[in-house]
Amino acid sequence: MKVNIKGLNFDTDAMALSGLIFGYPDCCITHFCDALESGLLPGQIAKPGPWDGTGFLPCPKCQAKCETRDDVKALIKTRYLSTPFPAVKDREFDALFNRMAKAVRERS
Ligand SMILES: [Zn+2]
Repeated sequence: MKVNIKGLNFDTDAMALSGLIFGYPDCCITHFCDALESGLLPGQIAKPGPWDGTGFLPCPKCQAKCETRDDVKALIKTRYLSTPFPAVKDREFDALFNRMAKAVRERS
């Protein structure tokens, strides 16, 4: 689904794929995409917490588990990037994203 955030269009399927690459839990990816599709802005999806500035917005259940940045890091288990959370190498991310998106397209 396409969502409009501050005049820019985003595709929630692409955001979900990005979340998988970043290693975010499935529950948080689902919550994030559902919240955007229901009209919330990213700043309204999670209350302020130790995840601030990481780009990761945990679901309410995961927010309740996180009191420190280490608690947040402990949620990120299946990361496909070589850089530790929350850092991202754009080229590595782009290459992975394109490869995974192509694989998904070829299977559908
Ligand atoms: Zn979660």
